[in-house]
Amino acid sequence: MNIIEAKGSVHNLPDNSLELVEYAARRCYNSIDKVGTDPDFLMKLATWNHWGPFEHAHMMADITCTRSASHQLVRHRLMSYCQESQRYVKYTTGIDIILPPKYSPNMLQIISSCEEAYMGAVNDGGVPAQDARAVLPNATATNLVVTGNLRSWLHLFHMRAFNPKAQGEIRDFTVEIANGLAEKFPLFWDIYERIKEGKVKYL
Ligand SMILES: Cc1cc2nc3c(=O)[nH]c(=O)nc-3n(C[C@H](O)[C@H](O)[C@H](O)COP(=O)(O)OP(=O)(O)OC[C@H]3O[C@@H](n4cnc5c(N)ncnc54)[C@H](O)[C@@H]3O)c2cc1C
Repeated sequence: MNIIEAKGSVHNLPDNSLELVEYAARRCYNSIDKVGTDPDFLMKLATWNHWGPFEHAHMMADITCTRSASHQLVRHRLMSYCQESQRYVKYTTGIDIILPPKYSPNMLQIISSCEEAYMGAVNDGGVPAQDARAVLPNATATNLVVTGNLRSWLHLFHMRAFNPKAQGEIRDFTVEIANGLAEKFPLFWDIYERIKEGKVKYL
């Protein structure tokens, strides 16, 4: 058993993302010729809750998390996902595990027994990986690629990264992705503040 940490990071976020958002929004006002003339324009869109233009730029993220956190993540239906398969990928040398902040020695022992049962089944028992995975614990690590438009990401951050009621693991890795977006485009720090202050609607 290999114990690892959950993590989230931006994989692809095109340099012209905000230009695309502004271009789309300017179409609404027939002011394409003014693209790039108002540095506050995108923040104005955010304060007006005019989120449609943010749907025209996309971000791809890499995530490593538990299978239980990935199950929560994929409830966000407007994002696109590709997730490591437990049918085609066989964990022949052991499983990666992400432990919760609190666990008992008994939990660790049971996870280890699950791993042993899985390995015995796939390596010596002739059981296909898609059947042997029945014994894998929720703590098993998984890798995903997630792509969505910036409005969908903001919605996800609202529900998972900036929501104190969200589960700690999903909160932490979505905060990492949110930070990655704002490090590239600092405008998002201000948008996040508005979300946290409850000023944002229709996300
Ligand atoms: C703290 C917390 C606890 C939760 N607990 C549970 C739980 O106990 N059990 C459980 O099943 N889920 C639970 N969830 C999941 C939650 O109910 C949502 O399914 C999940 O967060 C996806 O978000 P979303 O509904 O906004 O949809 P998304 O798929 O992210 O869609 C974004 C937005 O699009 C619109 N939309 C998308 N699809 C539809 C549709 N079919 N009809 C109408 N509008 C749509 C909505 O406005 C939605 O907000 C929990 C979530 C959180 C954050």
